[in-house]
Amino acid sequence: MGTEDKSIRCLILGAGPAGYTAAIYASRANLAPVLYSGLQPGGQLTTTTEVENFPGYPEGIGGTEMMEQLKQQAARFGTDIRFGAATKVDLSKRPFTVTIDGEKEVTCNALIIATGASAKYLGLPDEEKYAGQGVSACATCDGFFYRGKKVAVVGGGDTACEEALYLASIAEKVYLIVRKPFLRASKVMQERVEKHPKIEVLFEHNTLGLFGENGVEGAHLVYRKGERDEAKKDIAIDGFFLAIGHKPNTDLFQGQIELDKAGYIVTKGNTSLTNVEGVFAAGDVADPRYRQAVTSAGSGCKAAMDAEKYLMEHEL
Ligand code: NDP
Repeated sequence: MGTEDKSIRCLILGAGPAGYTAAIYASRANLAPVLYSGLQPGGQLTTTTEVENFPGYPEGIGGTEMMEQLKQQAARFGTDIRFGAATKVDLSKRPFTVTIDGEKEVTCNALIIATGASAKYLGLPDEEKYAGQGVSACATCDGFFYRGKKVAVVGGGDTACEEALYLASIAEKVYLIVRKPFLRASKVMQERVEKHPKIEVLFEHNTLGLFGENGVEGAHLVYRKGERDEAKKDIAIDGFFLAIGHKPNTDLFQGQIELDKAGYIVTKGNTSLTNVEGVFAAGDVADPRYRQAVTSAGSGCKAAMDAEKYLMEHEL
């Protein structure tokens, strides 16, 4: 262990809006924060195009650009921003121990967890088989490769509609595979999708598998599975996009900190406090409900303020 890491006062895991905002507040409060960015610096916003609903940007701003600005703002006040992901934690005694990239151990007096959430997959073996060969969970990252081609998006929420609309601006045809007979997305998104000439919504369809010699060439679907009029059908597609929700990145904390049934970190009331004193949570990792950049940023602020109070009260 390097001596410089012996006594991190405030360690932040995650580099999305929650982690960076915690870093801005913690560094301005002289907590000398160290932030490990995880495997996806900038977090989920780097996989989106325009952010139009963050207050203060009347014209909107690119997701990656916004995260770069948050990073610069955190660095300006002295946050030590490092590349690396926590692979193990020991929260059973203080100072807490966190292993980075499986090799380096750091200890900290206060820990802010802002590790976010990741896209869910259906769990089909074919998703793994064709990973990087036509299967993606991020239209804005990979849509570019499907210019003039046919793609499918799975899901019926706002994300699925947004991805379908984005892909429709690039691809020749977009199927939206929805397991229910309706879309769960907001009215305005539903209307945009249903009106779009390039998007065909396949209600009450599920995906059984994918096929193709060199990458995805099509999907096996089933209509009204288990019903009397059940019917199987294949569609020809070059890309298969998942947009069925997210899973919190908390595997690392299993058994060490209280999680809810879906794996989200449980925080106390209107605070960032977890059931382990000195450990705080912010952003999507503790928020199955709102999951917005602005709410994440707000919770990052709360986590830094809670950490500051804790460190002061314990003279750490
Ligand atoms: P949601 O949980 O809202 O929707 C997930 C969708 O995936 C649902 O249609 C669900 O079907 C479907 N689904 C889940 N599991 C499976 C499965 N195994 N097989 C097939 N389909 C499945 O997630 P989103 O990511 O869309 O949205 C999350 C939150 O973020 C929401 O609150 C949303 O409003 C918000 N959001 C807002 C945006 C905006 O305002 N611009 C953009 C993106 C997200 P079912 O309906 O049957 O459960």
